Amino acid sequence: MLEERTVISSTPKLIGETVVLKGWVATKRDHGKITFVDVRDYTGSVQCVGFQMMGDLTPESVVSITGLVKARPERMVNKDSETGTVEIEVKEYTILNKAKELPIQVDGDGYEIKEEVRLKYRYLDLRRERMRKTLRMRSKLIQAFREYLFKQEFVEVETPLLTLATKEGARDFIVPSRFNPGKFYALPQSPQQYKQLLMTAGVENYFQVARCIRDEDLRADRGFEFTQLDIEMSFVEQKDVMQTVEEMTKSAVKAVGGKLKDETFPVFTYEEAIKKFGADKFDLRTEQEKEAGVLAFAWVVSFPFFKKVDTADAAEVADGKSGWTFTHNPFSTPIPEHVEQHLKGESIEKIVTAQYDLVCNGYEAGGGSIRAHRADVLKATFKIMGYSEEEIQSGIGHMLEAFEVGTPPHGGIALGLDRLVMLLAGETSLREAIAFPMTASGKTAVMDAPAEVSEKQLTELHIKVVMPKEK
Ligand code: ASP
Repeated sequence: MLEERTVISSTPKLIGETVVLKGWVATKRDHGKITFVDVRDYTGSVQCVGFQMMGDLTPESVVSITGLVKARPERMVNKDSETGTVEIEVKEYTILNKAKELPIQVDGDGYEIKEEVRLKYRYLDLRRERMRKTLRMRSKLIQAFREYLFKQEFVEVETPLLTLATKEGARDFIVPSRFNPGKFYALPQSPQQYKQLLMTAGVENYFQVARCIRDEDLRADRGFEFTQLDIEMSFVEQKDVMQTVEEMTKSAVKAVGGKLKDETFPVFTYEEAIKKFGADKFDLRTEQEKEAGVLAFAWVVSFPFFKKVDTADAAEVADGKSGWTFTHNPFSTPIPEHVEQHLKGESIEKIVTAQYDLVCNGYEAGGGSIRAHRADVLKATFKIMGYSEEEIQSGIGHMLEAFEVGTPPHGGIALGLDRLVMLLAGETSLREAIAFPMTASGKTAVMDAPAEVSEKQLTELHIKVVMPKEK
C-alpha cells in the first residue's frame, strides 16, 4: 500500500495498488448500497465506489480516501475523463472538512451566477474548472516571461509600494503617515521612476511583475489595481526594446498554447492607425480568426507627446496646468529630431514622443517609451505642462538630480498581464483573469473593503473624517 498521498492524475498507472487520495467531493450518486463519489484534486478527478459507506459525504467536502485502484471493464471506460480507465474501490475514508450547503455551485462555467456573489465566495468560484485553468495558465505565462527574461540576463527587482506620486495620469491612492501628521505616501501607479533610477544605478536590464494602483473612475472592466510586466533597459533604442518585447511575447504566448496571427508584429504610426481604424487600438483579426481564439498583436508608434487637457478629468487638470498634458508618459523623450523644439516649448502640438504601444485584439496590451535621460529634457516636459520651478523640484527633483550623475540612455515598457491572460483564456472581462478582483463598484472580493476604521486608528493617524454633505 502507498501510505503517502497519491495525486489523482496518476491513478491510471497504479492499477492493483492501494492508494490514499485527498481532495474534494465533486459529485456524489447514491445507488442503494453503492455510492459513487467523484473526488477532485488539483490534477483531476476520479470515480470512487463505496459499498455501504460514504452516505454522509456532502458535495465539496474535503476527504481522505484509502482505496484500491481497479481497471474498469472495457465497456465501462469513460473516454471523457483522463482517469476514465480506472475507479477506486474505497476501503476507508475520513472527512477532513465537511461542507454545508454551498451558496454557489462550483460545477459549470458560472457565467450565469451574479458577479457580486461569485466574488463574495471567490474561494468557491475559483474551484470551477474554468477558473482553475485560467489561474494555472496565468502562472505558466508569468513563468515563461521570467524564463525568457532571465535568459537575456534581466534582473528581477522589487520597488517600493509606499512612495511619492508617480504621475501616470490617474489619481493617486494615498496612505497617511502615523509619524508625520498631515503627510501622506502615494501608492505607485507604476514603478516608472524607480525603474529609471535602477538604470542610473547600473542595473541595465530590469523587470518586475509589478502591482500598480490607480484611483481611476471604475469602468465595467477595470479595478483599482492591476499587474504589469514592467521592463526597463539601458543603452537601447526604440527598435531594440520593441524587438525584445516582441520575441518575449511570442515565446510566452506559445508556451501557454496561444495562437498568433503574425510572427512579425505589424507596425503602424499613430496617424496611420487613426486614419485606418479611427483609433490607436484596433483589432486585426478576421471573423474566422476571432472564432479560433487567435491573438493579433501590432505596434503603434510616433504618438504626439502632448494633448489639450480634458477638463472633465481631474488628474489631467492637475497635471496640465498650462492646458497641455502628456498623452502617455511624462518621462518619455521626444524623438531626436524634436528635442530642440521641446526644449524651447515650441509647436507643442507637433512634438512626437518615442512612445510605442503594443495592441492586441482591439486592446492596449502594453506601452512604453525611450525616456528623457537628460535633466533639461525632462524639465522641459514639466515646463510645457505649466509646472513652476518649485512644483518641478518637489515632484521630480529627485529624478533631475539622478540625471546629472551618470544616467545611461534607456527605455522600457509595461505589458498588462491581466489583459493578456484574459485574451489568452478567451474571456471578455479582466475579472476572469484575476484571482481576487474587485467588484464593479470597487469592493474587494470576499472581504468587505473599503471599511470604516476605529476612532483610535484615526486619532493615531491624525485624521478627521469630514462626511460629504447630503444633497
Ligand atoms: N510606466 C508606464 C505605464 O505604466 C509604462 C512604461 O512606459 O514603461 O503605463
